Amino acid sequence: MRVLRVALEVPVAKLFDYLCDDAMAAAAGDRVVVPFGARERVGVVVEVGDGSAVAGARLKTVVRVLDNAPRLSADWLEQMRFLSSYYQRPLGETVAGALPPRLRSLKPLPKKRKAAQENVGSDPAQFAPGPAPNAAQTQAIERIGAAFGRFRPFLLHGITGSGKTEVYLRLIAAVVARGQQALALVPEIGLTPQLEARFRHAFPGARIAVLHSALEDTARTQAWLDAARGEAQIVLGTRLAVLTPMPKLGLVVVDEEHDPSFKQQEGLRYSGRDAAILRAKLAGCPVVLGTATPSLETWQNARVGRYELLTLPERAVPGARLPTVRTVDLREESVEQGLAKTVIEAIRSRLSRGEQSLVFINRRGYAPVLACEACGWAAGCKRCSARLVFHSKDRRLRCHHCGAEEEIPRTCPTCGNVDLKPLGRGTQRVEETLTAIFPEARILRIDRDNSRKRGELARTLEGIGRGEGDILVGTQLLAKGHDFPNLTLVCVLNADSALLSTDYRSAERLFATLAQVGGRSGRREQPGEVLIQTRFPGHPMYQALIRHDYAGFAGSQLEERESAGFPPFVFEAALRAEATELATTMAFLKAAALLVPAPEGVCIYNPVPHVITRRAGYERAQIVVQSPSRPALQAFLAEWNAALPASASSGVRWHLDVDPIEFD
Ligand code: ADP
Ligand code: ZN
Ligand code: ZN
Repeated sequence: MRVLRVALEVPVAKLFDYLCDDAMAAAAGDRVVVPFGARERVGVVVEVGDGSAVAGARLKTVVRVLDNAPRLSADWLEQMRFLSSYYQRPLGETVAGALPPRLRSLKPLPKKRKAAQENVGSDPAQFAPGPAPNAAQTQAIERIGAAFGRFRPFLLHGITGSGKTEVYLRLIAAVVARGQQALALVPEIGLTPQLEARFRHAFPGARIAVLHSALEDTARTQAWLDAARGEAQIVLGTRLAVLTPMPKLGLVVVDEEHDPSFKQQEGLRYSGRDAAILRAKLAGCPVVLGTATPSLETWQNARVGRYELLTLPERAVPGARLPTVRTVDLREESVEQGLAKTVIEAIRSRLSRGEQSLVFINRRGYAPVLACEACGWAAGCKRCSARLVFHSKDRRLRCHHCGAEEEIPRTCPTCGNVDLKPLGRGTQRVEETLTAIFPEARILRIDRDNSRKRGELARTLEGIGRGEGDILVGTQLLAKGHDFPNLTLVCVLNADSALLSTDYRSAERLFATLAQVGGRSGRREQPGEVLIQTRFPGHPMYQALIRHDYAGFAGSQLEERESAGFPPFVFEAALRAEATELATTMAFLKAAALLVPAPEGVCIYNPVPHVITRRAGYERAQIVVQSPSRPALQAFLAEWNAALPASASSGVRWHLDVDPIEFD
């Protein structure tokens, strides 16, 4: 009899020991059925040993070993161990979270796809090449290609439309031709239907497994199995795809590496980008981080030579150039319903030429505030310290933090005034204004409110690409990776609000968003133009955008970060807590801060309530911990995590977030 240490999906930070008959030949990485409490569960064997700390008589025996999926490799287990320890989450939870639900249930797995359904006989390495690469692309392909077979991280810094995707495709073709697998991570698949189509077109004979969280159970399990069996040559997916076993992994690509959606915001709060680098290290293969606006962490890594920097400085389509960026000074221009005269005239000229315009405002709904001008009352959420957003389509008030909804009050609840006013503007109000100014134009609004149904957004985006819609009004949803050939104007409405934010990352984010949304224009022969409405036209961030000077912007940001002692010059973690009373939350955090004395080089800050303190009825606060040394921070976190009370008996819910990127 041997003893198996099994990871189970239970909220306890330990592994469970089970006895196992030698005849069963169970090994690390096997999925096993074990008795747990009154029922049976599926777990993953993490270690095989001879002894156990548990008294022999109390040890239960493994029911059976499951062999309907490949044994999880040592590499994969190593990745799980690392993530579990780095992000301070139990190994059982980490392992379980990385498997599709079906693989941790007792339900049978979906049948293996019939060969007839596949493009059998065709050559998986068949490649339909795009345009011949230019000099910069060739250089990138050669440098990265020279690193096949060993770990090496690259930053592919290429402006929007510089042909980064072409570089990925050629490298993937080379890896597949070597008989290996390629993993390509993107921020959100639903937003980039063109990308999947491009992959399928480029690799007509390959098996491509697409993996993201919106997949239904069977499809996700199937894609996972294809990857884990080594049968899919290419895995294209969102951050969770980085947790998929790929026995022949030869290349990892992270597109738009700066995108915040690579960071998981619950459970195992991992960075998909950082996990991708670890993954490549374990597999011994190159990893390519591609973006027009690297995160400052990545840029710093390139500056100090940890990552090799490859640059694509020009747009790839001959004749296509980056758009001209200009600010529109709101202090000087006449403004009609939030739109400056210059902006209105620029849209008018595009309409007369039959070109498309995009109006970008990062707020959905009609107006962010509904207020009484007589007494100053404003509609607020009962469960959050936040205003309710007025939605005009169905005339309701909605909380964008907890999802609560209300009817619009007929009169002011405080003074009885019947004249309540929407203040500020969101996409719906901009749409209304544009309809009034340009009654003949076809106006399309694109935000989460009208893109909820699966596939709906993809269809709308495709339509826009074919020239549908004269004026597009939209949020961030429109900013990512789409190719709209006929779009020549981008107008940005309320960017200033982000500049005034207290979050030190907001300038970095705004720069990335504006560069990305601006990059939607002028992707063909007609030049593009970006107009940014602002009260601070001299702001260095806008000036850098005008010059298309990412490096200058990043350099000055890094200087500020270094002198202020912010990442990437220090490492951070946050202990976040919430309870129904703020006093309870704060008391918990104050006690937590004293549990483990801060070692040399680690700084524990005082507990601070979140900017939006109450959310969904919980009062939230956090402690930030910093250190210039990652190992010192890691050692402290491990000790702290072990000392923190495991259960929420005090009515406090808490979690640790390592390398946090959201603070409100
Ligand atoms: P990115 O991923 O950097 O935004 P893409 O790879 O999508 O850029 O390329 C942008 C456009 O340029 C696409 O239409 C692509 O087909 C085209 N393109 C890419 N490389 C070349 C090239 N070497 N010559 C001509 N066109 C190219
Ligand atoms: Zn009032
Ligand atoms: Zn709310």
